[in-house]
Amino acid sequence: MRGSVVRGRKKRGVICCILLLLGAAALAGWVSSHQKHQVSFFAMDTYITLSVYGKDGQRLAREAKERLLSMEGLWSATDPKSEIYAVNHSGGRQITVSPETAELLSFSLKMAERTDGALDPTIYPLLEAWGFPTKNNRVPAESEIQKRLARVGYEKVLQEGNHVRLADGMSLDLGAVAKGYAGEQISSFLRENGVRSALLDLGRNIEAIGKRPDGTLWQIGIQDPLSEGVIGILSTADRAVVTSGAYERYFIGEDGVFYGHILDPATGYPIENDLGSVTVIGEDGGVCDALSTALFVMGKDKAIAYWRAHRDFDLILITKDRTVWMTQEADSAFRFYDGYEAWERRRIE
Ligand code: ADP
Ligand code: MG
Repeated sequence: MRGSVVRGRKKRGVICCILLLLGAAALAGWVSSHQKHQVSFFAMDTYITLSVYGKDGQRLAREAKERLLSMEGLWSATDPKSEIYAVNHSGGRQITVSPETAELLSFSLKMAERTDGALDPTIYPLLEAWGFPTKNNRVPAESEIQKRLARVGYEKVLQEGNHVRLADGMSLDLGAVAKGYAGEQISSFLRENGVRSALLDLGRNIEAIGKRPDGTLWQIGIQDPLSEGVIGILSTADRAVVTSGAYERYFIGEDGVFYGHILDPATGYPIENDLGSVTVIGEDGGVCDALSTALFVMGKDKAIAYWRAHRDFDLILITKDRTVWMTQEADSAFRFYDGYEAWERRRIE
């Protein structure tokens, strides 16, 4: 009789221990899947922050950083060791590039064609004239712009696989697509390695993997392009959110005029239209980046017409007259920040 009471107590003790261990293991699992691993660094001319959740997060975030730095090493237009620099200084000779560079270049040329040249990766001679690559900004003479326009035109780039040939005097700048494209590569790398929750911030190029670890949506701030501050918040999951505008990089000329860093490949002059910024939301960060620049070049009406003809992405256009134009999905995911409720809100249909 006493023996069975003791055995019963022992049994309960063992069950309690097992439950405690299971609880501790579950808690450890929960903590490791919710743990945030973050790396921040400067690359591609912007401040980058990668936040990766989960047990391999630290190792994967570090490897993602290395991958981004090596992509920058291939694609920088100003680094004499990069492949793009080699192409730009080839004096009309054919250059063999890596498969990664070949893929980004052919993607850029495809997007240039799709946007009817609003995006043009051969814009570099004009950017140089305005002093953007060296940050020694100046207003070039009209005659210089005309001369340099003759050296721009994506349709003149000869690419066959890894072989690239530019006419003498032409040069590439992949700045309008490289960050979004690189973000997309990193996002695929992390997903393939089992990451279910991460936020990659490559300076106005956001890639959201899954949802936040607690299952809620990511909250992405949309900048006010007309002054400092955040105009509103977009709730999203598993999307790239990419913004272009003139407000991030610009200079005021000696003539007192504002000159932004996005140029019109048709005229050679910085874009000055009704748009303050363009945010493109979609599944592919490379496409979103290419489109955000191209639609900014097009201006509001053409950007809306482009969306109507494609409808495979979402759009937030902020105009200089304080109106926020949004496609349906963007509209339902966006809320104004305090102080901005007076701005007009319109639907793109
Ligand atoms: P950011 O890279 O600053 O986030 P964008 O993606 O819009 O913004 O790219 C702008 C950059 O692209 C410019 O700084 C310049 O290097 C380059 N660029 C400017 N105008 C054009 C254009 N019409 N087509 C292609 N690239 C451009
Ligand atoms: Mg872009």
